[in-house]
Amino acid sequence: MIQQELPTRQRLIRLIRESGGSTLADLRRRTGLSRSTLRQHLGRMARDGVVQSYLVRRPSGRPPLMYRLTPQAELASPETYLTFLRAVFDALRSQGQERVDALFREIAERVAAQHPEIRALPDMSARLDAVRRLFFSDAEATQVERTDGGYQFSLYTCPLAPVAMEFRDLCCVTREVIRGLVGEEVEQSEWIIRGDPRCTFEVRGGGNGNGGGNGKTRAAVATVERVVKSRLSPAVEIAAEPITFAFAGSRSDPVLAQMAQGLREVFGSHGHRFAQSEDDDLRLVFNFIDAARPRPFRRKGKGTFLVTVAVTDRRPDNILKEGYPLLIRSLGNLMMYLVRSGGHVETHFVTLEQGTYQSPDLTGDAYFAYLYERLLPLACSELVIDNEFHTDLPPELWKGDELTAQLAEAGRRLDALDLLPTPFPMHELLPARDMRHIQRLFGLGGLSYGNLSVRKDATRYWMSASGVDKGHMAEIGRDMLLVKGFDPQRKVMLLSVPPHVKPRRVSVDAIEHWMIYTEHPEVGAIVHVHAWMQGVPSTAINYPCGTIQLAQAVAEKVRETPDAVHAVVGLKNHGLTITGHTLADIFDRLEEGFIRQVPMS
Ligand SMILES: [Zn+2]
Repeated sequence: MIQQELPTRQRLIRLIRESGGSTLADLRRRTGLSRSTLRQHLGRMARDGVVQSYLVRRPSGRPPLMYRLTPQAELASPETYLTFLRAVFDALRSQGQERVDALFREIAERVAAQHPEIRALPDMSARLDAVRRLFFSDAEATQVERTDGGYQFSLYTCPLAPVAMEFRDLCCVTREVIRGLVGEEVEQSEWIIRGDPRCTFEVRGGGNGNGGGNGKTRAAVATVERVVKSRLSPAVEIAAEPITFAFAGSRSDPVLAQMAQGLREVFGSHGHRFAQSEDDDLRLVFNFIDAARPRPFRRKGKGTFLVTVAVTDRRPDNILKEGYPLLIRSLGNLMMYLVRSGGHVETHFVTLEQGTYQSPDLTGDAYFAYLYERLLPLACSELVIDNEFHTDLPPELWKGDELTAQLAEAGRRLDALDLLPTPFPMHELLPARDMRHIQRLFGLGGLSYGNLSVRKDATRYWMSASGVDKGHMAEIGRDMLLVKGFDPQRKVMLLSVPPHVKPRRVSVDAIEHWMIYTEHPEVGAIVHVHAWMQGVPSTAINYPCGTIQLAQAVAEKVRETPDAVHAVVGLKNHGLTITGHTLADIFDRLEEGFIRQVPMS
């Protein structure tokens, strides 16, 4: 019935449009449909606001009823509006950021001025409730909650999201509108376009009223767990649903047995579920290996975070040199290398980014609380490394452009600064089967360190490929790729490539660069190196490369710097991310001085 109705409706719209106005008799003649069927259709179309009827005055006889289309019938597809909005924003942006900001402030003021009744409401929760009813017909999609310092206003869907992905300024409009309507300071703390489950605006003050919160929805979204506060690292709050963890390998060594027991207790005491290592939805696996014969644990999916645990009686000369091959051979994400010396055991961490740091001297519960706090955020982090290649790169870019020439040159400069350590020869350590396993899961061809990108336009940027030798980048699609977007629903990076090249994947940090470029339109280039600079602000947790959590942590630090276009941000135990107007601008600052050794803690 409905299937039939839609084509009929479309046919009627076309006929009415072509004639400029039709009577029932005209439509009967053209469609062959009965008078009553037509009346039914036209009645529904009138109710939906698609057609309107009017009487036509004639010199004689009964005036016939004419049907014509309303402007609403001519609504274009959402894509057409998006294209139009994009063009408007592009044009707006070319006027400079100040003009954009001023315009958005004005929009917010106008909206607020239209609704003085909202500000007149005495109670903040009533004001927020009014805002939500005014702008969102679907109440399920929004939520108002009481917090310590005021209120939280959350949107679970954002009608502007498809455009806001490219023009983050749009999020500011929403914030300004809420601020204007309720008359209090508003800050945004979560962004759908950044991969958060909702957009959240924190409304300060306004503590009067009893709160209109809906705690149930919140509990359903995530259980927020305050992780054990340690004296040794900043308090970290992470959203953690209970995860499933498991053990693999032999724990016959007493040190490993003790470690396993302590880990099981501390994770169990925080509500996480211990399972068998074959379980399907494992988030975290501890793989206890024999350092002389490291056995790999083969994950079912890339969502499993694998911690290799090994013990040695002999103090290694160089923890990294001895531990890193064990990490690679066991296919781990992180390694805990336990060194038995005298009566006690030291814990050294070895990371895939070739970092190593030691746990502080703790015992008993405090020690396991420390491990829990270090490991849980990493296990809960989420890789955004999937690529989708579209062979839509315009032919004039198949051989690159001015910008890819700059990118290749910047790669050579990194090489000259000796900031490109030799990629780790994974294939020499891994049997073919494990190499294939790693490639299938993570798409890695080899481990190399550092990456760089340069903005092409408002929405696209060129970036170095994953595992490529940055000192010799030449081919488009293989060494350098054009990133054209990020799909937050599917968590996939979108790339434009030439049709004739078998593309390589873009660097795993593409999501981090994407976030910085979309948030800061003036940033023209980004470079990431495994080096350090004195006194730089640093992220608090060493999230793995390619995770949305690392990207968010870095984006947050960039946002906090006084000048986002000239930011130097430290990635804990890992390296630096540097922004600039141009690549040359970044290198001028980098060449002034850096520390080769990244501080580890
Ligand atoms: Zn890195």
